Amino acid sequence: MPAAPLAIGLVAHDDKKAALVEWAVAHQAFLGRHRLYATGTTGGRILEALPDLALTRLKSGPLGGDQQLGALLAEGLLDMLVFFVDPLSPQPHDVDVKALIRMATLADIPFACNVATADLIVAGR
Ligand code: PGA
Repeated sequence: MPAAPLAIGLVAHDDKKAALVEWAVAHQAFLGRHRLYATGTTGGRILEALPDLALTRLKSGPLGGDQQLGALLAEGLLDMLVFFVDPLSPQPHDVDVKALIRMATLADIPFACNVATADLIVAGR
């Protein structure tokens, strides 16, 4: 019996969006088996590369999308988070970024901030 679909959050800061798109293309077969939620701009970039992927686009991160993912975590509705952060650029919505990382940590879900970790999580599934 196939495993039940997971709910997976996808987010990337601007300088990491290309890396997340590349990662999503490499793992499209995996992602296609799960329910996907992405912040607005990240989701749009992924859909440009993978137009057939079923993905729910939330608001743009700085406009509440990070908090929407945090709310899903608070409700126990997210099973995995891939959040490629840019450690070299200040983020105007840093408080939201910190809150999302905090909620993912609290929820104790698989949570990848970079490609190597995201690859490991997929390999373990
Ligand atoms: P975005 O949000 O996908 O709408 O750019 C990501 C972020 O929180 O920086």
